[in-house]
Amino acid sequence: MNGLRTYAAGPPTVVTAPGSSEHALCICLVTFHLCFAMFMWSYWRTIFTKPGNPAKEFSLTKADREQYEKEQRPEAQQEILKKVARELPVYTCTDTGAIRYCDRCRLIKPDRCHHCSTCNTCVLKMDHHCPWVNNCVGFSNYKFFILFLAYSVLYCLFITATVLRYFIKFWTNELPDTHAKFHVLFLFFVAAMFFISLLSLFSYHLWLVVHNRSTIEAFRAPMFHSGPDKNGFSMGVAKNLTQVFGDQKMFWLLPVSTSLGDGHTFPTRLVSADPEQLPADPQSHCRRYGSVGGASASRGQKLHFQPLGVAGRELFIPSLCDSNSVLMVTALVMLHPTAGP
Ligand SMILES: [Zn+2]
Ligand SMILES: [Zn+2]
Repeated sequence: MNGLRTYAAGPPTVVTAPGSSEHALCICLVTFHLCFAMFMWSYWRTIFTKPGNPAKEFSLTKADREQYEKEQRPEAQQEILKKVARELPVYTCTDTGAIRYCDRCRLIKPDRCHHCSTCNTCVLKMDHHCPWVNNCVGFSNYKFFILFLAYSVLYCLFITATVLRYFIKFWTNELPDTHAKFHVLFLFFVAAMFFISLLSLFSYHLWLVVHNRSTIEAFRAPMFHSGPDKNGFSMGVAKNLTQVFGDQKMFWLLPVSTSLGDGHTFPTRLVSADPEQLPADPQSHCRRYGSVGGASASRGQKLHFQPLGVAGRELFIPSLCDSNSVLMVTALVMLHPTAGP
């Protein structure tokens, strides 16, 4: 067991515990490495998965772009954009009711897409730009980000719990008087601090998933032609979870691509829809309009968009208002540097 005593992080304090059985040590080591492996896997995938960019169908053609840039009057520019948007499944607009257009990427923004000034590109279902993963968190890597938070919470909790008894011994002067005892102090404080902040962020993002909102949408409700609606994309708790984690529960805890849809179109609570309109079921929606897995759109797969012209635009006004306190969660998330649009 000497090899185990030299291990770097949480386990050594456990391994050297007087009276600990070999069986308990094995469980501790397996748990520790399992948390660590899942944490690293999700972290890796969050960092290296592109969050997803709009398909080329949303870019203006050369002729349209030249015409748009030549035009000085905003009304005339909007007419050009409206003409193009008629062929696209775009249901949200700006606060003034105009087509959402990105001047820098020169494209019509799909619903829930935003321009990231750090990445200098438009990101599908953008949540936020996260400096901790040096990447945007968007449609294709949102599930990985949530799992990264979940496993890092578990990892920090495990370390905090296993170091706690030695942390107490430190204060009661029961530890040998060497410099090593300060490692216990440092380890406990770092693990506990990250545990608290990550748990706040993880809880907040779970709340967002359940309500089918991005961080940006939690701060500013998406604007539809009938007005702003913070619950415009919410299809119920089960379907909201399925949209992010996929329809096969066995993959929910693994950082593999299982999110439903293509990142360009999302089921909304539209009513008075004709049979070709967006269905209420995100899974059937996915089958009809896009593919499973976020990367498909960016690989240039043909997308079958529903022309705006034939789509009903009325929104169902929910009778049940969301009673959750956004302010409370906002305060929590503001404590963490990865938060915020
Ligand atoms: Zn852009
Ligand atoms: Zn970014």
